[in-house]
Amino acid sequence: MIGRILNWDFGEQLVRAGNEADGSKDGIPELWMDDGKVVFRDSNGALHSLDWKEGDEKINVRDILTIRPDGIISRNYAAQSGEVDIFVTNQCNSNCIMCPLSETVRRQEQRDYFSWLWKFIHILPNDLEYVNVTGGEPTLLRQHFFEIMEYLKNTFSYAGFQLLTNGRSLADKRFLKRLLECSPRNMRFAIPIHASKESVHDAITQSKGSFQQTNQGIHNLLNEGQKVEIRLVVSKKNINELKETAKYIVSEYKGIFCVNFIAMEMMGSAAVYREELWVDYPEVFQKAEKAVKIFIENGIDVQLYNFPLCAVKKGYWPLAVKSITDYKVRYMPECEFCKVKEICGGFFASTKQLMKPEVWPIGQDDES
Ligand code: SF4
Repeated sequence: MIGRILNWDFGEQLVRAGNEADGSKDGIPELWMDDGKVVFRDSNGALHSLDWKEGDEKINVRDILTIRPDGIISRNYAAQSGEVDIFVTNQCNSNCIMCPLSETVRRQEQRDYFSWLWKFIHILPNDLEYVNVTGGEPTLLRQHFFEIMEYLKNTFSYAGFQLLTNGRSLADKRFLKRLLECSPRNMRFAIPIHASKESVHDAITQSKGSFQQTNQGIHNLLNEGQKVEIRLVVSKKNINELKETAKYIVSEYKGIFCVNFIAMEMMGSAAVYREELWVDYPEVFQKAEKAVKIFIENGIDVQLYNFPLCAVKKGYWPLAVKSITDYKVRYMPECEFCKVKEICGGFFASTKQLMKPEVWPIGQDDES
C-alpha cells in the first residue's frame, strides 16, 4: 500500500504524481510529498497540505494514482515501468476456475467505471512503451471496446500493444474485421488454450462450447496474418495434458508468434479452488519441460511466465522471464541468500502469502 491521507475531504480523485516546480499545466490534479506532508493541487490549481500515513510503496513522478474517499492511495500506472494495463471490464463470458478475479467481482455491475477508465486513459503520457488491454473479457464491451482501441491506436504511436482475450468473440469474422479496423497495427493477441481436448478446456473455463469458439478465433486471426501468442496456464486440471496440447498447437496453429507457459496468480477463484488447482513449481516445470521441448524442436518461441528460477532447470533459465508487474513481485525470506535474486522474477504477492512456496536459494557454485 502507498499510504493513506488522514484528513482527505475531496472524494475520489484520479491524480498524477507531480512536483511543485513543474506545476500542472493541463488542469490534471496532482499530488507530491513535502516534508512529511502530502501536497494536493486540485484541478483549479489550489494547493492543500495534508497529513498522511506512509505505506511500504513509494510514489514516483508521473505515476497515476487513485485517492479513494477514505484517503487510501493506490497506483494505476507506474511511470518507471512505461507499461500500463487498460482494464476494460470485469465481465467475462467464461468462468475459468483459476481466474485471479473472483466470480463475485466478475459479476458485479461496474457503475461509472467506463467514465473513470476514459479519464484514466486520457491522463496517460503519450510516450508509453507498452499497453496491455485486459479484463475480464475486454471484447464484451463491443462499441466501447472499439472506441478504446481506436483511441489507443491514435494516441500512443510508439507503444507496443497486447490484447489479452479468451478469443471467443473472434470466432465471429465480422467482429474480428471491425476489431482489426480500429486496432493498432502489429498488436499481439494473447489467448489461453487450456488443453487440446475440448472436454478439459471447457471444464476449466466452465463454459460449454468455449473451446470451439476460441479455436475458431485463433484460426481466424492466423488467416488474417495476425500475431498470436498462445498461453498455457498450468494447473492440476491440465498438467497431464501439456504434451498432447503442445502437439496440437504445433499441428493446428501454423504461424503462431509464440507460446507462453503461465504459473498461476493465486487470487480470486484460483485462491478459492486452490486444493483442486495448485501444483508446486518444480512439478509444474518437470511436466512442462517435455511440452517446451516440442515447441523448441518446431521452431516456436516459448517462455515461462511467473516461474521462480530455483524451480527451473538451469539450461531453461533464459526462458523464465521476469513477468510479474513490479508492484506485485515478492520474494521469500530465504531469497535474500540467493545469488540470482536480481534476475529471478519471484512470486505474485498473493501466491507468496497463500501458498508459501518452498525455495532453494542458488549459491555461487550452482550459478557458475
Ligand atoms: S531462491 Fe528466491 S530468488 Fe532465488 S531463484 Fe528461488 S525464488 Fe528466485
